[in-house]
This record gives sequence, C-alpha cells and structure tokens, in this order.
Amino acid sequence: MSKIVASAAIRGAKAIVKEAEDFLTKAIQEKSADTKIGFPETAFFLPMANALLGAEVKTLNEAVPVLNYAKSLLPQVPKEKLWLPYLGDALDAGIATMLSEEIIMVLRYLYNQEPQADCNGFFTDTILRSLGIQLVDGRMPGFAAILGAAPSNEIAVEIVRQLQERNILIFVGSSSGGRSIIDQLKESGVEMGWDNYIVPYGRDTVSAIYPLNWAIRSAMTFGGLKAGQAKKCLLYTKERVFAFGLALGLVDDYKYATGAGAINMGFPVIADTDIPEIKPSGITTYEALVKEFDYKKIVPRCIEVRGVKVKVSKIPIPVLYGAAFEGERVRREQLYAEFGGKSSQAFELITTKDGAEIEDGKIELIGPDIDQLPEGKKSLPLGVLVEIAGRKMQKEFEPILERQLHRFFNYSMGVMHIGQRDMNWIRISKDAFAKGLRLKHLGIVLHAMIHEEFGAIADKVQVKLFTNEADVQRELVLARKAYEDRDERLSGMTDESVDTFYSCELCQSFAPNHICVITPEKVGLCGAYSWLDTKAAYEISPSGGNRPIPKGECIDSVTGEWASVNAYVSLRSNRTVERFSMYSIVNNPSTSCGCFECILAFVPEANGIMVVHRDFAGMTPCGMTFTTLAGSVGGGIQTPGFLGVGKIYLTSKKFISADGGLKRIIWMPKELKELLGEKLTKRAQEIGVPDLIEKIGDETVATTSEELMPFLEKAGHPALTMPPLI
Ligand code: SF4
Ligand code: ZN
Repeated sequence: MSKIVASAAIRGAKAIVKEAEDFLTKAIQEKSADTKIGFPETAFFLPMANALLGAEVKTLNEAVPVLNYAKSLLPQVPKEKLWLPYLGDALDAGIATMLSEEIIMVLRYLYNQEPQADCNGFFTDTILRSLGIQLVDGRMPGFAAILGAAPSNEIAVEIVRQLQERNILIFVGSSSGGRSIIDQLKESGVEMGWDNYIVPYGRDTVSAIYPLNWAIRSAMTFGGLKAGQAKKCLLYTKERVFAFGLALGLVDDYKYATGAGAINMGFPVIADTDIPEIKPSGITTYEALVKEFDYKKIVPRCIEVRGVKVKVSKIPIPVLYGAAFEGERVRREQLYAEFGGKSSQAFELITTKDGAEIEDGKIELIGPDIDQLPEGKKSLPLGVLVEIAGRKMQKEFEPILERQLHRFFNYSMGVMHIGQRDMNWIRISKDAFAKGLRLKHLGIVLHAMIHEEFGAIADKVQVKLFTNEADVQRELVLARKAYEDRDERLSGMTDESVDTFYSCELCQSFAPNHICVITPEKVGLCGAYSWLDTKAAYEISPSGGNRPIPKGECIDSVTGEWASVNAYVSLRSNRTVERFSMYSIVNNPSTSCGCFECILAFVPEANGIMVVHRDFAGMTPCGMTFTTLAGSVGGGIQTPGFLGVGKIYLTSKKFISADGGLKRIIWMPKELKELLGEKLTKRAQEIGVPDLIEKIGDETVATTSEELMPFLEKAGHPALTMPPLI
C-alpha cells in the first residue's frame, strides 16, 4: 500500500525539483549568478538548507549545490518488484522536496511574488523567538499545518475552532479543487494573524515550506544545534515540535511529496480522503499517514497521532474558552457591551481574605446585567473584586494573580480585556451575548482559572461584580488604597533587602545549560519573570522551574558574585558555567538562552555598550541586526561583551552596575527609549546626568559606529571619559 504513497511522493518531488531548477536557471540568466537572495529577517539563510546541509546560501549561485544535492536524492519511481516495506526512498524524496520548495520560495521573493495576498509570507526569526517562550511554558502545545480546503466553509471554521480551543497554532494554506482554506476562513469572517493563532502561509503547496523551515530553525535556535547537524535537527523537531499536517481534499503528488518532507521531521499527516495509511513507523512517533473522514473526530485524531499534550480547561460558559482567543479583538461593529476604558469607570482587584470570610465559588452580581442595559446604551460601570483565601496565599502574590486576570478574561471567545487595575477596559461582542454570555460567566471564568493555575496557593475564591455607579465608586476608593500599598511595598525591595534569590530554569528545555538568576532588581531576561513571580511560582510548585537560592556569602558585591549562586549555577548548568556575576557584562556575565527582550553589546570604539530590542529590525552600530546578534548570543553560553536582558532591567539600579551602569549606554533604538520613557529619565536624574537620554545615540543619528562617534563626542557622552571597560 505504501508503494502508492512512495510513487506519488517521488513523482511530486521530481516535479518540484524540476520547477526549482527551471526557476533558478531563469533567475541566473535574467539577473546574473551573484545576485543576492534571501528571506526577510532571518539569520539562517535558506533555513532548511542551512539546517540539513550547513549551506549558507546568499546568492543565486550558492543555491546551485543545494539544488544538485536535492537532485541526487531523487530515486526512481519504485517498481513493483523493487518495492520494500520501507519508506527510505519516499523520505529522500521528501528532503529533496523541502530543499527545492525553499529555493522556489526565495526566488519568488527575488521576483517580488511573495508574500501572497492576505498571507504572512516567510516566518521570521523574531516570530520564532517570541513564540518560543509559549512553547516552553506550554501555552502552545503544538502546531497544525492545514493544506487544501474543507468540503464547506462551515467545516473549515469548525476544524479551526477545535484547534484554537486546544491552543494549537494553525498554519493554513494550499488548495484543493481550486479552493483554499484561507479563502474559506476569510469568507466566514474568521480573523487571522499571529494573535489569533491562525496564520495563512500561501495558496499553493510549495509555500507549505514556510511552517517547515520555521520548525527546523527551532532546532538551531532552541536546541543549540549547529547548522548541518541534519539528523539531530530532524530528531529535535520530532521530539520537541508537536506539529502535524492536515490534508483536506484531494492529496495530489505535490502534497504527497511535501508530506514526505514533513514526515522526515517527525510530523505525521492526517487526511480526510481515502489515502493509503502508513502506520506505525519509526520516523514519526506514532503513525505517519492516517485518514479520518469524520470532521468531528479529525482534530482529536490529529492530536492522538502526533501525541500532542493538550490541556483543555472545560469551563461551563456558553462560549469557547482557550488561549487561542487571547488576541482576538472586539471591534465597534461587533460591540454589545463595554466597561471601563473611556466608556465608564471600572476596576479589578484581587485581595486576600481570611478563609472564614469566603465561600468558594460564590459569584455575586450586584447591579444590572448586560441584558438589562437600557435601550441604546452599551456601557456599564464595573468593579471586579476577587477575594482569595489560602494557607499559602500571601499579600505579595496579589499583583501576580491580578496580572493573570487579563489572560483569563481574554481567553473567552468574544471577550476583550485591555489594561489593569482601575484602567481596565472590557468588551463583550454581540456574538458572545447572543450565545448567552452574561456577567456572571466572567466570575465563573476567574474562579475556575485561579483554581486551575494557582490551586497551590488559592484554596477558596469568590468573585463580586459591581455594576451600580455608587457601589463601584465606593469600592474603587478601597481598591486604589490597595494599589498604593502594594506599590510602596514593591519599590522598597532591593537585592540587599532579601535573603533569597530565585532561579528560573524553564528555558532548559531548549537551552539545557541556561539559568536565569532572578533578584528583586534583575528580572529574567525574557522580561516575563520578576523576583516575585519566581517566588510565587516556587510556592505554587516547589519542584517546578523556579528554585530558591539562599544568598549566603557574598564574594564581590560590585560584580554581584555570591558563592551560593556560583555553586547553584555550576550544578544546574551541567558544570558548564562556574562563575556568575549578576551585575557585569564583561566578567563572567549571565548566560543567555534565546528569549531575551534586549541584547547589550560592547562597542569598543565608544568604550560603551549599545542596546537593541527584539522589535528593532534595522542595523545597529555594532554592525549586526538584532537577529544576527541573537544568533551568536543565545544557546545558554556566557559571551563576555554581550548579554541578553529584560527591558525593564535597563531602569534598575543594578543595571550592569559593575561596568558603570546606565552611563555606559551609548546607543539604543528610539522606540526603546520611548518604551522605557519616564523610568529611564528618572534613572538618568538619579545618576546625575539628567540629559543622558539625549546623549544616547539612536537610529535617527547613527546606525554605524563611524556615525555614532562624532555624535557622542559632540554630545559629551559620559562613556567617552569613563575608565576602559576591558
Ligand atoms: Fe527562560 Fe529566563 Fe525567562 Fe525563565 S526567566 S523563562 S529561564 S528567559
Ligand atoms: Zn529563555
């Protein structure tokens, strides 16, 4: 049976290799062999060729050997007699297909044919890194690549919703019978884009290389593997990237060939048509090729075949609930009711209570619900008061739990939440209202999710929702007092004032030797974990990714070196890192995994340090873009002179304090200056250089060190007269 598959895959591969060859020949003729080619914003050239062959293709000419290699993999279409119950030939054809598809796509870029209408185009490294953290913390259990079109728009939507509800990232594209699922979703008004976990890659099968060459990069970015380690990279995607293909409609030769490529990466393909099945196989974890005709069962079947671990929180509300709905917006046309923002006064507060004062699961709505809105009105005031009791609950944890409310609200389909505290803004869509969503459901969600995620510290949870103006105003006074007390407590916290730091080892799943040591004045480099977060996380799950490190003996208070931190880091970095200084970029700096919000880099000419954040795509004075820098800084190693950090660390008193602190910063993108805003200005005042921010170069004055130097000299930047950094 698999013979049919092998033949089709090989036929497809041949056609695709031929297409790549013709296209490449044409391009070389028309544009000359040394014409530069490349995908946007990647440090991995043609990623599949880079991972599998170690090739660094930068010009048309350099693509030729890759194509030749692909050709050499092409077997003959297997004859009856020669056929063995072994996928070898088809697998080689799959590799040839992926390498050729990548060449076709990069040539389309050269000819300005990409991205296709409404499609994302090539998936950048930035996206890879920013979603990396979601993979690590399990918010995103896997990926689905859908190829083709469903028999009807309704079924297309149904399949996508089922995947979304399980928080699976969905790539949609290709076509069958002249239809693409992209258009089916578009016609059905489904919002697409990274925020919605639905990303259209292209309407043909060749463009399905995008999710594949995105996945293979994870092996090099997060798995610490080197370009050219083909076997290891393929094994990594099999073991770490829970992806699968879903072929809707006729599976033609191109799809078989591309599917064979996916199978090499450990990604099985599930089809809704009568294809020959291949099971079980050593290449994928379970079956490699499976059919399922029942659209109600197809998503669960995919999950089972790929072994995706999905945690579905079943919450009894009338709308779908899951992380995939987090980024969904409720626009004006869809708006049924709103609270806060400019529309009314609203607030949300989590507060700790004594167990006796709380009845777990009690949801009280005090005031009118949204079905009692007066004619023509769309807004009500809203106070959300969540009261928690628990033996392990501490007042310090309130802000951490409160920060999660944003997510908990947003997970409901048709509910949008923005902001926090007394500056929050909640919208409910007409669809959600029509499905029966009412205010008390918001309370049900909060109760369920706090138990689900914070069960270790919260024993009892009750929710009060106030919608009468007078009640909201009365409660607001108390809430504001609580916010103030909280801020005061936090601002007094320094590295000296605590006796324990915390580790974060979450990123070890892809950077096995990396550890963040987190202190009150130094956040994790991803920016997502503060000292309080890690402390709470440890209370919630003592055997999780965050452990206490008692401070003990300080070896050097300037560089920030502690014997206990060294011992801990050495042990948990598998003895690859012996010394760790918390406040220096030059002497035994912290390691960097891959999730850093910003990278610091030493610029020797300026005797200073530049910073670039992840969203800045342009060139920087150290001669590298963020992406290129990230390629050399990550992986869990120490790179003196370079350091990945969280944004907010720039405004800390302990910001590279051993190396001169903020005064060393000679360049940062304008956007980053603006993001850090007042906090940065305040720090500049504290260190006695109130106009420091203007003295720091940005892309509007310099993107090379040659341009930067005269600017710094003219501005009289303090770094120029500071002691040499190295
Ligand atoms: Fe990874 Fe560090 Fe963030 Fe933890 S704090 S998730 S180890 S980057
Ligand atoms: Zn990380």
